[in-house]
Amino acid sequence: MKLTVLGATGSIGVSTLDVVARHPDRFQVVALTGHRRVDILADQCRRFAPRYAVVGSAEDAFALQSLVGSRTEVLHGPQALEQVAALSEVDAVMAAIVGAAGLAPTLAAAKAGKRILLANKEALVMAGPVFMAQVKSSGALLLPIDSEHNAVFQSLPHDYRGTPVRRGIRRILLTASGGPFRTRTPESLRDVTPEQAVAHPNWSMGQKISVDSATMMNKGLEVIEAHWLFDVPADKIEVVIHPQSVIHSMVDYEDGSVLAQLGNPDMRTPIAHALAWPERIDSGVASLDLCTIGQLDFEPPELSRFPCLSLAYQALQQGGNAPAVLNAANEVAVDAFLQRKLGFTRIADVIASALDSVAAEPLPDIAAVMAADRAGRSAALAALTAFQI
Ligand code: NAD
Ligand code: MG
Repeated sequence: MKLTVLGATGSIGVSTLDVVARHPDRFQVVALTGHRRVDILADQCRRFAPRYAVVGSAEDAFALQSLVGSRTEVLHGPQALEQVAALSEVDAVMAAIVGAAGLAPTLAAAKAGKRILLANKEALVMAGPVFMAQVKSSGALLLPIDSEHNAVFQSLPHDYRGTPVRRGIRRILLTASGGPFRTRTPESLRDVTPEQAVAHPNWSMGQKISVDSATMMNKGLEVIEAHWLFDVPADKIEVVIHPQSVIHSMVDYEDGSVLAQLGNPDMRTPIAHALAWPERIDSGVASLDLCTIGQLDFEPPELSRFPCLSLAYQALQQGGNAPAVLNAANEVAVDAFLQRKLGFTRIADVIASALDSVAAEPLPDIAAVMAADRAGRSAALAALTAFQI
């Protein structure tokens, strides 16, 4: 199978290449992309000898080209990302760019009818109906990498292939670790630092998703992602706090059966699952040792502690441009928090303010998605000035 890895230098990208390297006879890397980390990308190019590598700027492209020699052609910019996502010789595209920047190349892979390994949840949150219509019309195969959605996928009927299957589903239960602040009072969260917020108890991830996990916006984005992937309404998608992160999600059926997928919290499992589907391959992840874990706990999420989760449900219920506005405002707020320009508990305030101030619009096409993204960003930037430290 020939692969493009979008976001190869990030947490998911590195885990993907770890799995790929275990199966040199099965996978061939055609293109790798990174944004700024030329050193890491150069090392990956030496190991995997892709035909193309893509970076953000012309300067970085020049620097990378001099490091990798002529075996790999180095390209740069957003157009090049779309180009390597749609190459005719590529079978599968790992979509692991973080945030809204991942939308255009992921959509290009969908248009080209690829097997899409979808890690970039923001693309689906922003552009759900447009993206799913594209997948359907081109016959692309959409396989979720997000551990919860991959678990749901694995717990659905075997003939599920990216098309909605609702036969007998009562609820989808998305599990959530609760992040590093699960047991803290809302008042004590005011002075949280970026270092504390990105220190996730169970998962090692990129900075943005780690902050999203601490606010539980990550779970909110995942509720919206589940809605689009599995065509299940918001009131049938529930969140359960499960601090051990061993059950990655569940499907509750009409007959009372609950199917779940379990495993050690390591993204190489869903990555290997989607790379090989419908087969199974070694991912490098150890077997789950339930006797050592001993106990699995569950509790409902306290919405007062996690207002971002309520905002995401609200945006999904509202529909139209609201999820794109929510996503854009969240990106702006998280960025400001990471730069120490916004308090942790103000992230939710900035998003709520953006959702309030941007007028509701339908989301018929990609132009409307981009307009909603811009409106969400400028509303969030305006709110930031009011809330900034
Ligand atoms: P990360 O920050 O570690 O890596 C992000 C990647 O995107 C890097 O390769 C970076 O070079 C690239 N990138 C960043 N900005 C870019 C831009 N403007 N243009 C082009 N490329 C750009 O992030 P991650 O943790 O690997 O997450 C990637 C995606 O996968 C996110 O959407 C995240 O929500 C999702 N995800 C991650 C995990 C996880 O365990 N890390 C789990 C589930 C879902
Ligand atoms: Mg997840």
